Amino acid sequence: MTSSSVAGLWKKLTKKLPKSNRRTAAREPVIIPRDHHNISRRLISDSALKVMHRLNQSGYDAYLVGGGVRDILLGGQPKDFDVATDATPEQVRGLFRNSRIIGRRFKIVHVRFGREVIEVTTFRGNHSDTGGTVSKQHSARNESGMLLRDNIYGSVTEDAERRDLTINALYYTSKDFCVYDYMGGLQDLNDKLIRVIGDPETRYREDPVRMMRVIRFAAKLNFDIEAATEEPIQRLAPLLRDISPARLFDEVLKLFMAGNGLQTYALLQRYGLFQPLFPATQTMLNKQTPAAEAIIQQGLINTDARIAEGKSVTPAFIYAVILWPLVKSLQAEIAASGVPEIPALHQASERVLHKQQQTVAIPKRFSLPMRDIWELQFRLTKRNGKRAEQLLEHRYFRAGFDFLLLREQAEEIEPELGQWWLAFQESRPELRDAMLKTSSSQEPRKRPRRRRRRPPNAARNPE
Ligand code: ATP
Ligand code: MG
Repeated sequence: MTSSSVAGLWKKLTKKLPKSNRRTAAREPVIIPRDHHNISRRLISDSALKVMHRLNQSGYDAYLVGGGVRDILLGGQPKDFDVATDATPEQVRGLFRNSRIIGRRFKIVHVRFGREVIEVTTFRGNHSDTGGTVSKQHSARNESGMLLRDNIYGSVTEDAERRDLTINALYYTSKDFCVYDYMGGLQDLNDKLIRVIGDPETRYREDPVRMMRVIRFAAKLNFDIEAATEEPIQRLAPLLRDISPARLFDEVLKLFMAGNGLQTYALLQRYGLFQPLFPATQTMLNKQTPAAEAIIQQGLINTDARIAEGKSVTPAFIYAVILWPLVKSLQAEIAASGVPEIPALHQASERVLHKQQQTVAIPKRFSLPMRDIWELQFRLTKRNGKRAEQLLEHRYFRAGFDFLLLREQAEEIEPELGQWWLAFQESRPELRDAMLKTSSSQEPRKRPRRRRRRPPNAARNPE
């Protein structure tokens, strides 16, 4: 459904509804019958349908909720399907052999079908209504209001109130094929508005990641952020420091790998959310370093373009871009004290990464290729002899080469080297030899290696 058809549908449905649609508490839902919306079983994955069917057959309620409903209503294709149910995680686990309970703060069940995972959550209930009778195992907050445990279960109405945004609180069930709108999400889809459910400040304090989600969906859907939803973000942005670095790694990936990285970055900057995620990079950007800003923006433009073309992108590349200005400047500092460029790079990478891990934890499977991408920037300048051929075989040659082109686009370096590597890769082996000959004659020739033993630990002199 295009947004204009959402508009048409909404007009039909809302003739009798009050003008103000701000809902802080769920009321009777607006129910949209099957012939008034475009969600059909054909657009839902078989696995999600199987999960809902089995839950229904076992006497439980089961709804499709979140992106699965929102994106289909907007005429798009959902990235994944989330199911909400009144069965507890343990009961869901009992129904599906291919499932496991994950999370402690917020228990959910992952039901796996090959490569597809259906996320099943139990309806969340209201914490404030539970008084002192609920144990800390199920509900707990820290001093700034953050929910450390969110395992109080409730009804579908309560569940709708506990969701982050109105547009994410639309429910579809294959029992009657209707869409249930408890929080006015359909109107906000129609008005292209991102609106947090309930009191925004309280909801951000409960879970500061919701601020990142507001930005993510505003950028992804190209929606405006409603005024009350927007107001506290800048003020509360520092609360992101309380979120575990591992969770922030996942969230940052969703921000930059959804195809709207540049727009997301602009919004993160506007609302002060980039700083708590990448404090050292932000300090450098604050010094009005145009080169740093240029490479980050160009890196995100290139990543968005790759995603639009259906090409793969690796988190290693994105993190390599965001941290490169820091690594480069620190490397120059270390090298100035007489350390050769590659060891200086290794020291700089180590220190920058160590600091970054304190806010966003980058797993080794990405930080290792990231270091290779950086190292290749220096190795690619050496084009003589067999080295060029060998570099083509490097595991991360492609990413390193793309990074080199990015630096040229961002005008950090002259465009000559990237062009040379491009031509070299495309040329036939006979031509490569000729290219190598001309490039070696352009570059300062290295002295032949002397086979002299150095005493162990002796510092290498830069040659
Ligand atoms: P997509 O999967 O396309 O990124 P989504 O809306 O499905 O978007 P998920 O992260 O899959 O996002 O979460 C599924 C649903 O769970 C959301 O739509 C929302 O209703 C709810 N949700 C997720 N994170 C939170 C949160 N931090 N606070 C409250 N509700 C949340
Ligand atoms: Mg989802």
